[in-house]
Amino acid sequence: RIIMGIESSCDETGVGLVRLHDDNTVELLADEVASSVDQHARFGGVVPEVASRAHLEAMVPTVERAFATAGLKLSDVDAIAVTAGPGLAGALLVGVAAAKAYAAALDIPLYGVNHLAGHIAVDTLQHGPLPERCLALLVSGGHTQLLLVDDIAAEITELGSTVDDAAGEAYDKVARVLGLPYPGGPPIDKAAKNGDGAAIAFPRGMTGPRDAKFDFSFSGLKTAVARWVEDAERRGEEIPVDDVAASFQEAVADVLTMKAIRAAKEHGVDTLVISGGVAANSRLSELAAERCAEAGLHLRVPRPRLCTDNGAMIAALGAHVVAAGRPPASLDFSANPALPVQIVSI
Ligand code: ATP
Ligand code: MG
Ligand code: FE
Repeated sequence: RIIMGIESSCDETGVGLVRLHDDNTVELLADEVASSVDQHARFGGVVPEVASRAHLEAMVPTVERAFATAGLKLSDVDAIAVTAGPGLAGALLVGVAAAKAYAAALDIPLYGVNHLAGHIAVDTLQHGPLPERCLALLVSGGHTQLLLVDDIAAEITELGSTVDDAAGEAYDKVARVLGLPYPGGPPIDKAAKNGDGAAIAFPRGMTGPRDAKFDFSFSGLKTAVARWVEDAERRGEEIPVDDVAASFQEAVADVLTMKAIRAAKEHGVDTLVISGGVAANSRLSELAAERCAEAGLHLRVPRPRLCTDNGAMIAALGAHVVAAGRPPASLDFSANPALPVQIVSI
């Protein structure tokens, strides 16, 4: 069966096509993304109205590109999955309206699926089916969560999450302080390669004995970086951007991997999946690989292209939802900007 996935929760218009095989493995056929990121760069963050308009313009051309890449026709599709949330209301609406139109015109089932679960599901395109039970560290622009995944199509439990900023948000804010472009993840990752991660001892938030075990906090770290840079400027010193980037990145990777491994051990799971835009970070996957090897855990991290927002992740999750025999959505369902991760499909 062929499943089309449509993603429009933030600033990427994504269309993915996958094939669900009889043995329930999912094969990637096309993954086309049109991003409006350049239009937001000068604002230092996504402007919702600009994103919605860009989705509207990009949607049909992106669908057409995906079919051209896969060598398929619209009539080959057996089901459609679309991001129902969480995300920007106006942006989600464009994808949901398009998906409803295609589903109605083709008379095929439509599934409204969870963007965050999609970030995890995408890994099955690269590494095959998930084990019975695994731990997922979801690190993206808007979310930072430790999740117990018993069934990617139906059962996800939250063990902890950030009490303030998401990891990706911290990257974007620190980049701004360092005069690096938006989004901040890629330029910080690059600068850090020339810096020393041990140069500056930035704080590790929520790692004290009295802190909630599986929650995170990145706002103190962000402030510590900003203060460090201000102090150096006040002294008239040149900012060692590479060292600051590397030391910040080290603090983020240290806390994320420490807590993820602790959670995996405590819950007796042997596989850790790291997903979401920040999973594209080179130091995070490097440190996770080191620590997972020490702890005897199996680590799965999708390739960077699959970590950031795309349509393939929604098609992949759609395929798992179809395979699990979940009921499709009715054509009058609405997007939910605050959809919790526990609701995998609506
Ligand atoms: P959410 O999935 O929570 O709704 P989102 O969809 O906006 O948010 P993603 O596309 O999953 O987020 O991730 C975007 C974030 O990933 C941005 O904050 C960006 O800076 C960060 N990011 C991308 N590449 C890297 C990298 N190499 N290192 C660190 N962070 C990165
Ligand atoms: Mg984006
Ligand atoms: Fe995302």
